[in-house]
Amino acid sequence: MNLKEKKLFLLDIDGTVSIGDKFIDGAIDFLKYISSVGKYIFITNNSTKGTHDYIEKFSKMGLKTDASNFITAVNASIKYLKKNYCGKKIFVCGTKSFLTELEKNGINFTEKFETDISAVLIAFDSELSYGKIYNACRILSETKADYIATNPDLACPAPFGFIPDCGSICSMISAAVKKEPLFIGKPSVLMADMCLEATGYSKDETIIVGDRLYTDILIGVNAKIDTAAVLTGETDINEISASDYKPTYVFRSVKEFYEKLTVE
Ligand SMILES: [Mg+2]
Repeated sequence: MNLKEKKLFLLDIDGTVSIGDKFIDGAIDFLKYISSVGKYIFITNNSTKGTHDYIEKFSKMGLKTDASNFITAVNASIKYLKKNYCGKKIFVCGTKSFLTELEKNGINFTEKFETDISAVLIAFDSELSYGKIYNACRILSETKADYIATNPDLACPAPFGFIPDCGSICSMISAAVKKEPLFIGKPSVLMADMCLEATGYSKDETIIVGDRLYTDILIGVNAKIDTAAVLTGETDINEISASDYKPTYVFRSVKEFYEKLTVE
């Protein structure tokens, strides 16, 4: 389908429309264009920020958004639990603020070992303790509980470099129990499916835009949705040519993408 017929734009944030607290050149025009023809939803694996944090961040940067413009690995996980484990007990490894979010959404959860647990959910947990890891391993070994995690990212940026993210916490558990989790975040198709369901747009009318091949582009490949890679973040032309899976389109930046959408 022609680029101009795209109505739903699923956008990565960092390295795609912004870097830190600054928009990438052309991003505002790009977002305004999308609003005039359809809708944009930011899809992010960052599980340390909630939707309200992003609304506030963008508002400070001069862009008005609302909750319908975001889906994070955290709210995707909550949706997934509500749909597949309604009322069932979930063992959770996550921060206090993550637990509060689950509580607000009526999720039945525990942090203790219990025998009637339906799923173990691992999130990015900066308050991680060995006791939580121990309980997660025991439940996954002694019961039939499913193993779920918010996002597969191994590392999360820190002021000095990187710290372990949810994927690394899961690696530790997986190495011990010899089981792999179902990851909710990109590149799993779940977040893309949730966006299509929420808006009613078809896969053909949708495009996923991002700067990282193994999350942003791979989710499109997995979901059979067109993708556009931008070169303002992690990936570059060499990585794209060497990659087994390719984006449908490559643009230097969202500015070039915007020009393509509006000029021709
Ligand atoms: Mg990115």
